[in-house]
Amino acid sequence: MDEVQRILLRREAIAKRVQELGEEVSADRSPTDPLLAVAILRGAVIFAADLVREIKGPVELDFMAVSSYGNHSVSHGEVHVLKDLTEEIAGRDVLLVEDIVDTGHTVRFLLDTLGKRGPRSLRVCALLDKADRREVEVPIDYVGFRIPDAFVVGYGLDYAGRFRNHPEILALRPEALTS
Ligand code: 5GP
Repeated sequence: MDEVQRILLRREAIAKRVQELGEEVSADRSPTDPLLAVAILRGAVIFAADLVREIKGPVELDFMAVSSYGNHSVSHGEVHVLKDLTEEIAGRDVLLVEDIVDTGHTVRFLLDTLGKRGPRSLRVCALLDKADRREVEVPIDYVGFRIPDAFVVGYGLDYAGRFRNHPEILALRPEALTS
């Protein structure tokens, strides 16, 4: 695996932070009305699976897929829906669960798209934040880790479909990325 530059986050550090995020979300939420966690496919699935189990009170889970980089490591800034939610969100408390916020275009698009459907609240929880790369401002209510500008994989994040099942978050060597 010489395309891996270094281990950025070990599984213990991830687990500890996910637990803390769950506590933060739990403290802000309605104790009675179910919270609808929306995991963005596919990268946020593993994070969302761990996060929802750290949130106290009723949580429902739904999924949405938007166009992503594919096999590319550079964003194009254009986002569209590939798979929409199953649930109606009008009047509901919604928590968007994202793996990583990079340029911000994806979360901006999701906030605009879901915001129009009239949720009671719409918050964002992102495991990773590459704040230095931001092109559009987006409010992120809960951030797991701020990380430097590197292409990262593992814990749900892929490169060309690989590494999603790796339990740590790894930074790849820039020269290993083909596009
Ligand atoms: P943004 O729209 O903020 O530029 O990008 C968000 C999406 O780009 C993320 O949901 C993720 O799919 C992808 N992405 C951004 N940076 C990385 C990265 O370092 N590694 C991987 N695997 N995906 C990334």
